[in-house]
Formats: sequence, structure tokens, C-alpha cells
Amino acid sequence: MDAPTPELMETVVNLCKRRGFVFPSSEIYGGFRSTYDYGPLGVLLLRNVKDAWWRSMVQLRDDVVGLDAAILSSPRVWEASGHLANFTDPLVDCRSCKERWRADHIGDTCPNCGSKDLTEPRAFNMMFKTFVGPVEEGASVAYFRPETAQGMFVNFANVLQTSRKKPPFGIAQTGKSFRNEITPGNFVFRTREFEQMELEFFVPPDEAGTWFDYWCDERLRWYTDLGMPADLLRLRPHDPEELSHYSTGTSDVEFRYPWGWGELEGIANRTDFDLTAHSDASGQRLEYFDQATGTRYVPHVIEPAAGATRTMMAFLLAAYDTDVVNDEPRTVLRLHHRLAPYKVAVLPLSKKESLTPTARRVLGLLQPHFMCDYDETQAIGRRYRRQDEIGTPFCVTVDFDTLDDDAVTIRDRDSLEQVRVPIGALVAELQGRLAT
Ligand code: ATP
Repeated sequence: MDAPTPELMETVVNLCKRRGFVFPSSEIYGGFRSTYDYGPLGVLLLRNVKDAWWRSMVQLRDDVVGLDAAILSSPRVWEASGHLANFTDPLVDCRSCKERWRADHIGDTCPNCGSKDLTEPRAFNMMFKTFVGPVEEGASVAYFRPETAQGMFVNFANVLQTSRKKPPFGIAQTGKSFRNEITPGNFVFRTREFEQMELEFFVPPDEAGTWFDYWCDERLRWYTDLGMPADLLRLRPHDPEELSHYSTGTSDVEFRYPWGWGELEGIANRTDFDLTAHSDASGQRLEYFDQATGTRYVPHVIEPAAGATRTMMAFLLAAYDTDVVNDEPRTVLRLHHRLAPYKVAVLPLSKKESLTPTARRVLGLLQPHFMCDYDETQAIGRRYRRQDEIGTPFCVTVDFDTLDDDAVTIRDRDSLEQVRVPIGALVAELQGRLAT
């Protein structure tokens, strides 16, 4: 597939606004610093991305369990994890125009005014600070989590005990994370509030290499299974100097963004760094006792860490397509069925009152099974186009023949094929088509 272009990015951002996927936050007040709200379609798409991840990482496996840890936690978590000391970006100020930049993003020239008069880089901690309780003092400082991972490490013993799993096993979590990014941007690629999908997979130390390779393959396949073209994806191993302080090996799943290759997800071999750090700081044993061999060890951790909001954007860029149908240009989001916000749109052929009760009966039949849209305004051709543009895989049309034969027409978004199906067989027919 052709690489996404800056023009495509602009088109997709506009589509997101126009069709209700993503809105600039606080828009009536002029917006708020690269913050976004997910609209009626965006909330569905984002949820489907997270559900597809959960299905693959938790539901279809018997060696991973879920967790939903709090966003606020004891500051000791962030002290032990190294975030208080190390979760920093190098910040430089332009002495000329006063803009602030990430030193590693700009080289020696201010992208705003072109000046080379920059300050020396200084470490800027990216965690959002707040106060818990009514007194704003040092003792009540807390931090919004900058990643979901630590919630899984500090619950390691709880999960081990209650789930009766043993290594190799994993804990999975999706949820919001917060980073005071110096230069957010590129739509929802980099925001200060975003959603992550992370797995911490605990393994016997001597199996870490094998599991690292396993998860790199598995995670790359997740994107292609959901329809992401393989030539827009690559796996890039980090150079030794790029590695985080806790990692002995990291590979990024990268996507071909309009501005070049960039991260979608990082897969890291975190060794026993986190469990050992929390064990040392808390005085609690965070290890596994293997009864069969009578040995005790601190598991090593392989972590595939993805961004849900960033991934959603990549799926939109990859799905956007145009073609010509009946001599008219058409925009179509070729989203995988699993990701499409609506699976089915029920469209009475006309707004005539005689069709409405049957169309509503069909809608009522489908709603318990699928997320449905219902639209009875405008010409049918325009309504098909509206559904194509938001990626709805199937339209179900109720026409005047339906009143006689109790059958409806299913239209396929991609093949444009139309088939007549009895209403009594509609749910099974759509279930079959959506299962592929
Ligand atoms: P980057 O190098 O792009 O800042 P990172 O290496 O700091 O990312 P991780 O800490 O590995 O990111 O986080 C895992 C995933 O979370 C990333 O691959 C990305 O998809 C997502 N993510 C991280 N920071 C942001 C952000 N500010 N906005 C949106 N998604 C983010």
C-alpha cells in the first residue's frame, strides 16, 4: 500500500471531526493544548481496538489474566520504579522566541524561528503531579500514572496468589496514562492524556529470550490480522544506546506515518528490574516459588506496550480509501469488521410511514447482536455513502417488497454485492459474515 501522505493525514483529521470520531477538547473555549475528545464513532472505534487487543491477549489465552489498577497510587511506586528520577525528557529553551523543545527531537536549531541560540538541555520530569486530600503540601503529593505497567508489577503477588498461575504467565491491562509531553502533536499520535494496552509477561529467567521473540512475532501479527497492510509495518530493534535503563532488548512495532516511520508499540525485555526494585523498596517478596523443583526465583518480564489511541489513528490512516462507484467518487474506510464502529446500518428505502414499523422491527432484531446505526433521511445512495465513509461493513435495506416477502437486502461495503435474505435468517447471516 502507498505510504500515508500529509494530505491523507489532513483528510483523516477532517473526517474525524466531521463524522464524530475525534473532536478537539474544549473546542467552544478555543481548544485545550493537544487534548482530544472521542465522539460517538470514536468511542466505538477506540473501544473496538481495545476489545480486539483484550480478545487476543486475554480471552484467547489461558496464560494471561486481566487487571484494572488505579490511576493514582502511592508515590513510593514511582520512586521505586525509577520514574521520579528517570522519567524525563531533555528540554531546551530557544532564547530567541522562547519556545520549548525536546532536545532529542530538534538537533541544534529552533524549528519555530531557526535560531541556534538554545539553552543547555535540562531534565524535565513528565509525570503530572497532584495533591490528594484537602492540604496542598509535600506529604500529599501524588502522580497520575505515566504508564499502566507499574500497577501490574505492584500487584504481582496478589495476582499470582489469587489466579494460581505460574510463570510463564501474564497480566494485561488497558487504561489511561498521562505524560506532560513537551511537544505533543500530530493529532492523537502524541497527547498528554492517552490510552495504553500493556502486557507484563512473567517468565523463568532462562526463557526470556525465547519469549521476547515470541511476543515480537505475535504482536506484529495482531496488526496484520486486523487488516493493517504489512508494508506499512516493521519491527525495529533498538540500538544499544537507545535502550531504557531497565531493558536488555527492545523492538518497536513501527507504522509508516505520514511523517515517516514511528512507534506504535514497544516490546521490551525488562529482566527482573521492576520486581526486584519493588521488592527492595517495599520489603515484600515478589518472586515465584516452584514447588516441583523447590527453587525460588524472580521472574523476568517481557512487555509488549501499545498505545490504543495511537493505534486507532494508524488503523484509520491505513483504512482510508477512495474509489469510483456508478461513476461517482466514493470514500470508504476499509476497517476490519472487528474494528468498524457500526457493524450494520438499517436503512428503510424511503421515509414512507409504511416502511418504518418493519425497519424498526429489523433494527430491534439486530441490536442485541451488533452495534447498529439507523438512518431514514436522504436518498438511499447518499446513505450508503455515509455508511461507507465511516466503515460500516453491511447495510440492510428494507424496501416495499419486504412488506410482502419479509426479506431484506444486505449490501457489502467492499464487494458492493447485494443479496436478498429472509428477515428470519438475517442475524445468522450477518453473524457468519462478521465472523470472518
Ligand atoms: P515515544 O518514544 O513515542 O515517546 P515511548 O517509547 O515513550 O514513546 P512507551 O513508554 O514505550 O512509549 O509507551 C508504550 C506505547 O504507549 C507507545 O508505543 C505509544 O503507542 C503509547 N504512547 C506513549 N506515549 C504516548 C503519548 N504521549 N500519546 C499517545 N500514545 C503514547
